[in-house]
Amino acid sequence: MEKKLINESNLSIDPVSYLETEMVKVKVLRLDKIHPVISGNKWYKLKFYIEAAIAQNKKGILTFGGAYSNHIVATAAACNALGIESIGIIRGEAPKHYSPSLLEALQHNMKLIFLSREDFKNKQLPPIPDIENYFTVAEGGYGILGANGAATIPYPADDFDMICCATGTGTMMAGLLNGSTKPLPVLGFSVLKNNFSIENEIRTLLKNPDTAFTIQHDFHFGGYAKYKPELIHFMNELYEQSGIPTDFVYTAKLFYGVKKLVEQHYFKAGSKLLLIHSGGLQGNRSLGKGTLIY
Ligand SMILES: *Cc1c(COP(=O)(O)O)cnc(C)c1O
Repeated sequence: MEKKLINESNLSIDPVSYLETEMVKVKVLRLDKIHPVISGNKWYKLKFYIEAAIAQNKKGILTFGGAYSNHIVATAAACNALGIESIGIIRGEAPKHYSPSLLEALQHNMKLIFLSREDFKNKQLPPIPDIENYFTVAEGGYGILGANGAATIPYPADDFDMICCATGTGTMMAGLLNGSTKPLPVLGFSVLKNNFSIENEIRTLLKNPDTAFTIQHDFHFGGYAKYKPELIHFMNELYEQSGIPTDFVYTAKLFYGVKKLVEQHYFKAGSKLLLIHSGGLQGNRSLGKGTLIY
């Protein structure tokens, strides 16, 4: 299935000296390179859901997300490429002008159904013909199969002391913790404001509930998909210095947080960090033209 779709041989581990000091070494796992649309962690989180849908002879996948969701776009593109249908339940009333993400989902033949925020929260769906023939995936791919997929993200654990990643639902982080051949500590940077239930949501997905992990709650820049000029400035500077593009919703907050923590001597001297570039660059299309230099 994946042979047809993604190109894992494009994966690389790149230096990112912009974040380093004498004391702390930083490299980045470029999951953003496996596919232009089904980028980064989204493919890994989706793969076992899609496999299950196909094995159960479902018509397709039904899933949930916001108008700028990377998960919605990735689901649409992956299902379309693999010959199954997809239905996206979108938070909020149908907009006059669709976001670039929704337009792209439509291009990949996703059927979009808009729900009021209230109905979305309560999972109050309108009648959908044949709904039992669709495999339902939670928002953001949260769940055991998502974590199992993320556990297959390949990286050389022996070369590093710690993994740092952006955290939305925490599914990728749970997978990284479950999949590790050598138990590396994982430091997650929550991109939501005060989302303190995330620790429990991650723990629910862990094979060994005693596995240690830490979430940073100080680098959300105001909340999900919120940002400040400082973050944009940082993204441009990071790109200039290292050639690594980041997205303002997830990976920029991770890289920014790591830089600050390195400067604050948060990491032990001699630490070797592996940052996960989890993709999501398509989300930058909602920024005004000229905001980013890439
Ligand atoms: C969805 C996403 C995440 C968050 O993954 P979770 O498994 O929900 O924590 C991180 N980075 C990018 C680029 C994403 O698109």
